[in-house]
Amino acid sequence: MSAERSRYPVPAVPKCPDCSTEMTPGFMPDDLNMFGSNQSAWVEGQPVESLTRGVKLSGKLSFPITAFRCGQCGLLRLYAFRPSHRNG
Ligand SMILES: [Zn+2]
Repeated sequence: MSAERSRYPVPAVPKCPDCSTEMTPGFMPDDLNMFGSNQSAWVEGQPVESLTRGVKLSGKLSFPITAFRCGQCGLLRLYAFRPSHRNG
């Protein structure tokens, strides 16, 4: 994790592993969450509960989750391409 610059994958549309058709991008709606977003996010590591604010996120990167869906079989694949921000 020393090279801070673009070690993240370029977002791309995957193909369904079963049907080999291009999947449709979407997202997993969330109630307005702790990131101030309606999009679910992926955060590295184990959740650590804090007494005041739920799970502690200090210094962690959060990656918004893109959910691709296969129009033929309905399979979902979740990708977290790039972090949206680092939590203070
Ligand atoms: Zn499929």
